[in-house]
Amino acid sequence: MRDKVILITGGGRGIGAATAVLAAEQGYTVCVSYRQNRDAAHAVVGDIEQRGGEAMAVAADVASEADVVRLFETLDRRFGPLTALVNNAGILERQMRVEDMDAARLARIFATNGTGSFVCAREAIRRMSTRHGGKGGAIVNVSSVAARLGAPDEYVDYAASKAAIDALTIGLSKEVAAEGIRVNAVRPGVIHTDIHASGGEPGRVDRVKDAVPMKRGGQAAEVANAILWLLSEQASYTTGAFIDVAGGR
Ligand code: NDP
Repeated sequence: MRDKVILITGGGRGIGAATAVLAAEQGYTVCVSYRQNRDAAHAVVGDIEQRGGEAMAVAADVASEADVVRLFETLDRRFGPLTALVNNAGILERQMRVEDMDAARLARIFATNGTGSFVCAREAIRRMSTRHGGKGGAIVNVSSVAARLGAPDEYVDYAASKAAIDALTIGLSKEVAAEGIRVNAVRPGVIHTDIHASGGEPGRVDRVKDAVPMKRGGQAAEVANAILWLLSEQASYTTGAFIDVAGGR
């Protein structure tokens, strides 16, 4: 039986990919899930395997409950019960004022960023909780500083979906604290990844960096370090906590 098994949703690119590589370096057996970019996810697996680690990639849309259930069943079969979950998969849509947003857009963003994290957490708890015969574990949710700043630069829907993740982190951490499971979150600021291009702003990090006290965007690996610390034994008495990785923003 493997000691440390981690699932990173959206682990093929950006913050998820950096987390997958670092987790493998720290001795985890790694499962990365992806929605559409199969090649990117398999490249992460190849990278880990080349360095002697063990990894797999599984296609699963976190907005689909059936996909998530299948993802966890695949993980059970290949690697055994997971010990760590990183709820990282997330989307950002093009900038828009609230007065112009329709319900379909809101449904999309909440389904991936909000419901996806809830359903993955549920599946993880069913396997980790001592109440269900599990051996405990740790969950890290990837929120955003937008959850507390509100993203008034026309991403209010995104900020609201991340605030849902914050409430999940606080409430769930208390619900499962006595069952051997810790639940924490990171709140990245502006990080150099592709997500800004999907928001319609490819050069956004460099444009907004002057508003960051440290005057630069962050690297995905800097977020990954905080995630791995929260998952580690060094954080054994830390639950319901948030680490901002935002250059002081
Ligand atoms: P990227 O766009 O680089 O990566 C997003 C990842 O999420 C991809 O692997 C993508 O899969 C996956 N994904 C998106 N939707 C789904 C879905 N429905 N089901 C499964 N996987 C999905 O973004 P980042 O690395 O920047 O983002 C990672 C997390 O960090 C997100 O939650 C984001 O909100 C958060 N964040 C990022 C910040 C930043 O400045 N970059 C700031 C604050 C928070 P695929 O490759 O298949 O498309």
